[in-house]
Amino acid sequence: MKQEMPNWLKQRSELTPNRTALKTKDETITFQQLFKRVQVRASNLSQLGVKQGQHVGILMRNSVAMVETIHALMSIGAVTVLLNHRLSKSELNWQIVDVEATYIIVDDEFSDNVADFHLIINEQLSAMKAASLSNAVPRHFNLDDVATIMYTSGTTGNPKGVLQTYGNHWSSAIGSVLNLGLQTEDRWLLAVPLFHISGLSILMRSVIYGIGIHLHERFDAKIVHQAIMDEGVAIISVVTTMLKQLLEELGETTYPPSFRCMLVGGGPVPKKYLIQCKEKGIPVYQSYGMTETASQVVTLTPDDSLLKLGSAGKPLFSSELKIINNGIECQPNEEGEIVVKGPTITKGYWKREEATKAAFTDGWLHTGDQGYLDAEGFLYVLDRRSDLIISGGENVYPAEIESVLLNYKGVKEAGVIGIDDEKWGQSPHAFIVTAEEISPVDLLDFCRSKLARYKVPKSFTFVDKLPRNASNKLLRRELKKIIKEQSNDKD
Ligand code: ATP
Ligand code: MG
Repeated sequence: MKQEMPNWLKQRSELTPNRTALKTKDETITFQQLFKRVQVRASNLSQLGVKQGQHVGILMRNSVAMVETIHALMSIGAVTVLLNHRLSKSELNWQIVDVEATYIIVDDEFSDNVADFHLIINEQLSAMKAASLSNAVPRHFNLDDVATIMYTSGTTGNPKGVLQTYGNHWSSAIGSVLNLGLQTEDRWLLAVPLFHISGLSILMRSVIYGIGIHLHERFDAKIVHQAIMDEGVAIISVVTTMLKQLLEELGETTYPPSFRCMLVGGGPVPKKYLIQCKEKGIPVYQSYGMTETASQVVTLTPDDSLLKLGSAGKPLFSSELKIINNGIECQPNEEGEIVVKGPTITKGYWKREEATKAAFTDGWLHTGDQGYLDAEGFLYVLDRRSDLIISGGENVYPAEIESVLLNYKGVKEAGVIGIDDEKWGQSPHAFIVTAEEISPVDLLDFCRSKLARYKVPKSFTFVDKLPRNASNKLLRRELKKIIKEQSNDKD
């Protein structure tokens, strides 16, 4: 049986028309106003030829227009492809061809990068007169239908287009609220990109819960800090670099009681930042998830957020998690691959039958991440399996070593990989970006005092910057290439 629901924004605008949907630095918009604007946009898009079932790309900055466009495409029943505007021209072109997009709705400033495709320029779309709204009756949502396609960040290889259904988004929003709770006056600050699942999931929650979004075009630590201090923000989603900057901004003060959740995810979180949050009384919640799980799938609960520092928590309601090793479920504290199951998990990758098959066993998604559960069932994420270093038979996790290196004064960034070692098979090598001159000997001593011997980097390379992808994630495979090239040069 097809499971249908009324269009979420339409129903929201009927239920709580006067509640704030969006607040930007320039305007505040209620759900009713947003719905009206979305109807106009949907009708104009239909007039331009956009139809149900087509793949339509969005290449825009966070803005009210981008929010309207996402809702408008959902109203029409087109599949929204969220494109990352930080990608290079060739990366974008590859994704657009791969996804077979019929149109790209684009902020004019990015149009040169996608000039070969059928474009709808956002600025022109916004200037269009309201067409007849007769063709703008929002479609019901079938929970099995694909709502969005979002490419993975491409940290471990080529990005893959993840099919995200309405049911995935719905279940994700419900799982989150059953964990974090809901107050009608909640405001969620959105300064992560809307083209990532971290940002898009906030938009879905906003209409489903009826809470407002403080929409920021980009993350600016000073502006975000001020918003938390003065504007009644209750929740914010951040990645580690944002958390670090917010802690610096906060200094010796603390956030007001209206602020109830700093949700941090997207990658490893060095423990020192979590400890600083605890010391400052910041309600920090580490979470774990990925594009394939339509955002967080494991999160700490309010009861445990400061008690289980370093853990990503337990699966959200209706999701399940196991740790497996060679196909067998691990015991508590035993390390293995994290596998997850539940209604938020993708049907698969667009046009990647082999990759989809390889990713699933009996409905369980193999995340490619390594971790363990403690005796109480709390998840600790260690690292990506592909980055695991095996040294003398011991598993060594680059993220743990990087986290220690970041504690050394003057170390700004660190990236660790395994290099060939005659005696141990592999040993860790660290790439370091410094803020000031530091002595490698002292740094080594520091590592020896904090890490087991086999985890201490065998050697260091000092660099000006580390290779990162358009999501700012460290590309350890590029670091491996550097070492390989160096050893080829020697041969
Ligand atoms: P690709 O799949 O193309 O290599 P990606 O995995 O970086 O890219 P995303 O879906 O954006 O793409 O990121 C999800 C990944 O981020 C997870 O699989 C995991 O490796 C990492 N991650 C997310 N949350 C955490 C966390 N709390 N701790 C450690 N790693 C995390
Ligand atoms: Mg991934």
